[in-house]
Amino acid sequence: MVDFQLDEMQEMLRELAHEFAVDEIRPNAEHWDMNSEYPLATIKAAHEMGLLNLHIGEEYGGPGLGSMEEVLVNEELGWGDPGFATAAYATSLACAPLITGGTHEQKDKYLRMVAENGALASYGVTEPGAGSDVAACKTTAIRDGDDYIINGSKMFITGAGHADWFFILAKTDPDAGYKGMSGFIVDADSPGLTLGKKESNMGQRCSDTRSLNFDDMRVSAENLCGGSESGGWMNAMKAFDMSRPNIAAHATGLARAAFEHSLQYSNERQTFGKPLHRHQAIQFMLADMKTKIEASRMLTWKSACEADAGIQNTESAAHAKRFAADTAMEVSTDAVQVYGGYGYSEEYPVARLMRGAKVMQIYEGSSQVQRMIIGREITKGL
Ligand SMILES: Cc1cc2nc3c(=O)[nH]c(=O)nc-3n(C[C@H](O)[C@H](O)[C@H](O)COP(=O)(O)OP(=O)(O)OC[C@H]3O[C@@H](n4cnc5c(N)ncnc54)[C@H](O)[C@@H]3O)c2cc1C
Repeated sequence: MVDFQLDEMQEMLRELAHEFAVDEIRPNAEHWDMNSEYPLATIKAAHEMGLLNLHIGEEYGGPGLGSMEEVLVNEELGWGDPGFATAAYATSLACAPLITGGTHEQKDKYLRMVAENGALASYGVTEPGAGSDVAACKTTAIRDGDDYIINGSKMFITGAGHADWFFILAKTDPDAGYKGMSGFIVDADSPGLTLGKKESNMGQRCSDTRSLNFDDMRVSAENLCGGSESGGWMNAMKAFDMSRPNIAAHATGLARAAFEHSLQYSNERQTFGKPLHRHQAIQFMLADMKTKIEASRMLTWKSACEADAGIQNTESAAHAKRFAADTAMEVSTDAVQVYGGYGYSEEYPVARLMRGAKVMQIYEGSSQVQRMIIGREITKGL
């Protein structure tokens, strides 16, 4: 039997995350966005409340919860503010390749640092010339005794300005395509590593996005992550099966927030002698918003449940991420329409939500890349 009932612990966790969003995120979201202010204190507070990095195992100081618990929390954080959700989630994405492909020593040092001390981390894969096409990466890692020497650069790295460590991909064999890509854990204070300035983005402006530059930066061979030099790409891609349900959850939360604002506004605003929602064109728009949100949540929960059941969720995570990100964009755009001219003003929250939705169709694999993944999965073996 499939039942959509959450257990008592899941309900409590969801409620805790919702209250945190109401009390700590929503009152500050506009200020953070308008001032491009990174919400460091609130990320630390979320960590203290036990709302972040839920997938780190108990043996490394974490709560060892499942994907289902994570998506429940992340929908609420996305509902609170998408920029906060992205900023707070960056560390989980960086931890994912360590969870799937790290050694015991790496996990004991770097995952424990996150779980017990609230350390922050970033996932550095994208480069100026390699976004969707990750294998086009040009950063190199050349073995030198017990170290590798890294040269190159990364682009658009979330949380970089506050990270204590990074997971990065670099080529140890530039002629071997994706099989020549290796994963490394890099301490933020490594000599030879410098950061670019915080990018000025369209939305989610509180999140910190920067470039990384490696100039003969040394990293110990002990920090090679992914089993072997040739295991980096596969391990970095597997991280997305873990993270994409959570990005889908952020997007579902954003869409839910835009819908709730619209519903309330449609009851307050009168045109032609009746509330907006009594005009069928608006009511149908609200109905379509709600259907898409429900569908986003179900796809998200399915991909999380598959992960928890040990079923490979590459396809379901791509469905969830693609559909929920597109839903966040469509629903927040419709929300601006429901608000009319007021929706276009930054005085009301829906403009910020619409700006914040766009990047969800771009990062963690764009909507086109999700379709490529789904296409590859459904045509396997034909
Ligand atoms: C705010 C923000 C935060 C980010 N955070 C991180 C991070 O923490 N770590 C990290 O490593 N990266 C991060 N990224 C990078 C992000 O993952 C990339 O921007 C994304 O993968 C797209 O790559 P690109 O920008 O190079 O676009 P391109 O790959 O150049 O693509 C341009 C357009 O073409 C489409 N396209 C590309 N190839 C195809 C194809 N074969 N078929 C059809 N369409 C195609 C894409 O969907 C896109 O619409 C972030 C980006 C942003 C904007």
